[in-house]
Formats: sequence, structure tokens, C-alpha cells
Amino acid sequence: MRIFIDMDGVLANFQKAAQQHKDFGTKGFRPDLTLDFEKFEPMPDAIESVQKILDMGHEVFIASTAPWNNPDAWGQKRNWIEKNIPALKRKMFLTHRKDLLMGDILIDDTTYRGQKDFNGTFIHFGKHGTDWKIVVDMIRQMTEIVKNSVMDQ
Ligand SMILES: [Mg+2]
Repeated sequence: MRIFIDMDGVLANFQKAAQQHKDFGTKGFRPDLTLDFEKFEPMPDAIESVQKILDMGHEVFIASTAPWNNPDAWGQKRNWIEKNIPALKRKMFLTHRKDLLMGDILIDDTTYRGQKDFNGTFIHFGKHGTDWKIVVDMIRQMTEIVKNSVMDQ
């Protein structure tokens, strides 16, 4: 399967970096225009989970929306991937329209970039406690279903 994974709030801990910033909570603070996206900590279990998904034999890509008015963030995201998940080097899509991606699964924590209109299965990360352990279990089960359906043909 071809699987797209969002960065902020799924792979990279944007929220933690925002909360640790000295201006957090002050009026007009825009973390998306202020923070260094390269320095975000990985989300818990994210790196190991991506490896598990790759080990299942899937094609994995990053699908991230970089802030238009913070062009530095585009390169910082690229550098984050190279540093934290080098296996996904050159496998990054930056887009404000996730509904235009062609694939089987999209893992994302928000819905305002077309995620609900993605043509495959949208896994809403964080909703109802959906963490990386649950996501990996879901993908493992879907992998079994796909394997069995191929064998039945
Ligand atoms: Mg996100």
C-alpha cells in the first residue's frame, strides 16, 4: 500500500515546541511563523512506528503543509526528515490539498486540508485516542486483508 503521513502533530511534536516557546500564550504569537521546524522532537513512538510500517513492505511518504508565509519552514521540514527518518529522504510532499494525493492510507491529525476527501482511508491521528500503537495495528490488519484478497484472486 502507499501510505502518506502528516508531520506536525503526527511525526513531529509541534505542540510541545510551541508550548516551550517564551511567547506561548501571549497575544499574536504565531508558532507556525516563529518556530524552527527542524528542531521539533519526534512524537512518541513515531520513528519506530514508521520503521514497522516500512518493514511491512509499504511505500511511505510524508505529506505536510508548510506555512506559506514562512518559507524557511519548507527547508526545515526537509532537514527534520533527513535527521530523524532518513529512510524517507526525497519522499516528501508539501501541499495545502491532501485530497489530491493518490494512495491507500493518509495518517493526519487535522481535517482542514482536504483530508476527509482523500481517496483512500483517512486515519484521524489523535482522535478518540488514536496513537501510533493503534495506527500500526490498523495498518497491520489492513495489510493482512490486502494479502488475503490478493491470494484469493
Ligand atoms: Mg498535522
